[in-house]
Amino acid sequence: MFHLYDVRFSAEAAIPTIEFIRAQCNACRGIFRASERPLLENIAGGGAILTCPACSRRQAISGARFVEFAARFPMGNAEGSNPLATPVPGEGA
Ligand SMILES: [Zn+2]
Repeated sequence: MFHLYDVRFSAEAAIPTIEFIRAQCNACRGIFRASERPLLENIAGGGAILTCPACSRRQAISGARFVEFAARFPMGNAEGSNPLATPVPGEGA
């Protein structure tokens, strides 16, 4: 099981594509960043497979979990540094 810290989405597709993830591996407690294979593998139709670089544990994260994360952090992360997801004033979030 991975604990997700930051998830950055591509804002272009209807089904969000994950571009970047920062997560902690609950098996070895390592914190890592994943932005490309083999650490991060997007699944067609939503979701992705994460691989811990330290202990090689793999887990699929469902698209629903990413959507839930996106709902909580519309800009992909708490730092708000995603230029693709600049909020429009007056539209809330
Ligand atoms: Zn690990």
